[in-house]
Amino acid sequence: MNIDSLVRNNVKNMSSYSSARDDFKNDYDNKLIYLDANESPFDNGINRYPNNNHIKLKKVVSNIKNVNINEVVFGNGTDEILDLIVRVFCNPNKDQIITLPPTYGMYDVIAKTNGVENIEIPLTSDFSINKNEILKLSSSKIKVLFLCSPNNPTGNSFDTNDLNDLIKGFKGIVVVDEAYIDFSSQESLISLINDNNNLIITQTMSKAFGMAGARLGMGFSNEKIIYYLNKIKPPYNLNVLTERKALDELNKIDKIKKNIALILNEKKLLISCLEKLDFVEKIHESDANFLLVKVDNADLRYDQLLKKGVVVRNRSNQPLCQNCLRITIGTKNDNNSLIKTLNEL
Ligand SMILES: *Cc1c(COP(=O)(O)O)cnc(C)c1O
Repeated sequence: MNIDSLVRNNVKNMSSYSSARDDFKNDYDNKLIYLDANESPFDNGINRYPNNNHIKLKKVVSNIKNVNINEVVFGNGTDEILDLIVRVFCNPNKDQIITLPPTYGMYDVIAKTNGVENIEIPLTSDFSINKNEILKLSSSKIKVLFLCSPNNPTGNSFDTNDLNDLIKGFKGIVVVDEAYIDFSSQESLISLINDNNNLIITQTMSKAFGMAGARLGMGFSNEKIIYYLNKIKPPYNLNVLTERKALDELNKIDKIKKNIALILNEKKLLISCLEKLDFVEKIHESDANFLLVKVDNADLRYDQLLKKGVVVRNRSNQPLCQNCLRITIGTKNDNNSLIKTLNEL
């Protein structure tokens, strides 16, 4: 696929922001005196602008993910990367994206913010992809297909063959949002970025890595696409504190793996407790750190839980999710409180 021809002309023709520190190569041995960026000279750990390359963090992340340094882009959360993708490829008031509801709400918000039409191809009743419907659509205006696997809010991973067929068959950029991949029994599709030049994988430090408050999203793709995303990215989108914290956390991979195992075990226990409740009608298969649970009356159960101090997400108004609550797996204590409260209803 010719990626350049998919990129917006204004993005191709512009030059990116050049910061003070881009003006020279820092290969001097002596310590430099920085009088170039109008920063405060008083050292408090954060008085300097972040280095836009994030080379330390990129090294660690690319090593863990088994990609090249030039195949990674960081965002202020995945949400920013998703927005960058739309802005690189979609001309406002002209181009379109495809999403598969019920899915993550930000794709639609980002499209609309950018004046881009969102073509919705709903999942089938068993939450699988309507592959033929998607491949049937053919228009050079449809630039990006957003796939979320494991999918939020349904919790299931999509069939690997379906994902592969779409990556190969769709005539535009395919984004696979792997926000929940660390909880999944399926493997990440990161290794496919070298064989498919239209593929972007996004992952996040917000879920399994416990850094939702710090905002760090990661995009993985071939060098060309990463180049364009970096070109329009705000230069200081990843702040110094977040980068430092991420390096800390990535140093404790064993702790994170242990936490993931705990969550998965808690998920099993929670399922067995939920199954015993007579107002629970269906617990959907989950490959993530949450359960989509169909109850007799989602609005009622949501309010009852809230009054007793337990907040879940009511997804009842989403297509195919009538009377469904989305419940995040918490700590053992959280989950015990949830079960105790549900038993009281
Ligand atoms: C939580 C979530 C994200 C994460 O977004 P961040 O901006 O990285 O916090 C991305 N995609 C999906 C589907 C999610 O559920």
